[in-house]
Amino acid sequence: IVVFDQEVAERVEKNLEMERLLHNALNNNELLLNYQPQYNKHHKIEGCEVLLRWVNDELGSVPPNSFIPIAEKTGLILDIGNFVIKESFKVLKDWNDRGIDLKKLSINVSMRQFFYQGFTGDVERLSQQYLTSELCQKIVFELTESVMAEELDTLVNIMNQLKKDGFSFSIDDFGTGYSSLGYLRKVPLDQIKIDRSFIEELTVNASDQSMIEMILNLSKVFGLSVVAEGVETQEQEDILVKGNCDLFQGYLLSKPVDREEFEALYAAQ
Ligand code: C2E
Ligand code: MG
Ligand code: MG
Repeated sequence: IVVFDQEVAERVEKNLEMERLLHNALNNNELLLNYQPQYNKHHKIEGCEVLLRWVNDELGSVPPNSFIPIAEKTGLILDIGNFVIKESFKVLKDWNDRGIDLKKLSINVSMRQFFYQGFTGDVERLSQQYLTSELCQKIVFELTESVMAEELDTLVNIMNQLKKDGFSFSIDDFGTGYSSLGYLRKVPLDQIKIDRSFIEELTVNASDQSMIEMILNLSKVFGLSVVAEGVETQEQEDILVKGNCDLFQGYLLSKPVDREEFEALYAAQ
């Protein structure tokens, strides 16, 4: 039995409206990038994650968790994803030219975008246009665990092709999806990002603390660097530092900020 009520009708209506407006978001320059710094244990900025923002006249500021699924469903993610990659490459090059020396810059890639047959070609074309081979080595593509549920050989082939050019890969929201030792062994990853939900429970839940320790030890076995996402308190950071976590990202250190603010944060350190 499917119940269709006013609430469902409104939600469908809202999504259709969002879809219609999203079609023009790129052309109307409504999509912007924010940058969230990633710090080492000495509170020095080592890298950042690029996070997409959509600001629309009618809808206001729309969070990516609302519009990315629509962009995926409609295929708009291909153009939007290329926009994010292109802008991120340009910013990295510009920062590098101006002495803002990041070790890594992370870009989120959605599953549909990654498995689109033109993905590697697009990345290679854009990197030839905007990056040097040294700068390619600073780019990290963040994939979610949902990609692991797809054809593993195809996944590994695409990753290896881009790794030849120097790009690296990270698993985002680690622990929330299809976490398996099998893929950690088979998939050529460079980094994992522990999901915020585990970090949140760190100071309340002893079993979460043991689990984080296990994830940190495991990642060392596989030679992966580890980023903790959503670090909000000093206590959480202290536990993570003790466990030898490599990088810290979260409101305790900085929220995602625009380009000027990021440059100011970098200059101030
Ligand atoms: P994500 O990649 O896991 O990004 C981390 C999210 O956690 C960001 O939300 C960030 O603002 C938020 N966050 C960071 N530190 C804290 C903290 O200390 N506390 C809390 N409560 N939250 C924190 P945001 O920017 O809303 O992005 C949500 C998701 O949207 C991202 O999750 C990512 O999956 C997706 N997304 C964002 N930009 C892009 C993009 O360019 N392409 C694709 N495909 N997906 C994107
Ligand atoms: Mg991410
Ligand atoms: Mg995440």
